[in-house]
Amino acid sequence: MTVPVRAYAATSPGRPLEILNYELGDLHPDEVRIEVSHSGLCRSDLDALDDRLGTSSYPLVAGHEIIGQVSAVGSSVTHLRVGQRVGVGPICNTCLNCEYCASGRDNVCSKVEFTIGGGRRGGFADIVHVPAAYAFPIPDSLGSENAAPLLCAGITSYAPISRHTTSESHVGVIGIGGLGHLALKFAAARGSEVTAISTSPRKADAARRFGAHNFVASSDAEQLRRAAGSLDFILSTVDADLNWLDYLNLLRPDGKICFVGASMGPIGVPAAMLIMGQYSLVGSAAGSRATTTEMLEFSARHQIWAETEVVPMSDINRAIERMRSGDAPFRFVLTHE
Ligand SMILES: [Zn+2]
Ligand SMILES: [Zn+2]
Repeated sequence: MTVPVRAYAATSPGRPLEILNYELGDLHPDEVRIEVSHSGLCRSDLDALDDRLGTSSYPLVAGHEIIGQVSAVGSSVTHLRVGQRVGVGPICNTCLNCEYCASGRDNVCSKVEFTIGGGRRGGFADIVHVPAAYAFPIPDSLGSENAAPLLCAGITSYAPISRHTTSESHVGVIGIGGLGHLALKFAAARGSEVTAISTSPRKADAARRFGAHNFVASSDAEQLRRAAGSLDFILSTVDADLNWLDYLNLLRPDGKICFVGASMGPIGVPAAMLIMGQYSLVGSAAGSRATTTEMLEFSARHQIWAETEVVPMSDINRAIERMRSGDAPFRFVLTHE
């Protein structure tokens, strides 16, 4: 039995999305069918739509912060039921058996499959089929429009903070956008001392509202100098190529800079500096199933979610234009009416 789907698809890089009708085939035994109600709009959706990495194929249906209701379950799915509210993030499948999957690091499984691309179509559609292992039940105390951005921006910022920091840590966050504002909230709720770092001083008030104790305007050399040697961990959420030496200078001994924003250029820092400070440069890729479940519970308990502007899916092109022009809220969430 096939199911008709209506989606907003890109037909070539950078073009406005157009309505695309297609059919989904039979549900696989390990999959669930989700009637999508909400879909976050992430910067990496734009990267995929614009083919920034040269790996996109068209027509492309993006959307990887999906919330919806399960409307059918495959024959081997036992942990989800019809009517349940679930969320899907950027990762939708792994082997579930390799050493990484078996040790709760399935996000780095070599068989990882992403929710968009590689022949898969994402949440800018009214129905998706996804492996049930990557459809996460959403706690009742999280609203759908609030929960959607947690599935990518939330897990991407929460996972490295939970992996690398404790309540004793001095945590810095570079960039106060979709990922960064959630990172500030998570780090503050975990009890760390939190420093927001942004090129734009007018974001200081917002950063404090999200839980930052300190604010460093990175455009101000004097402020950078005063913050030198103050941080144990810095999460970079920006995709710009920064002068990373400035940020290495902010670290305390044994400090780390973790990248979740994909700047494209090389990170040129002298090995001698890493040696002397015992610094580490690390990356973090979304998050595992276990960490995603933990993040959703943590967010529900601490009532943490993204600052969103909710718009109907029919306005998706206008939302994308506003993101491109820099006139965007922390997160757009699109609703299927
Ligand atoms: Zn994303
Ligand atoms: Zn695996």
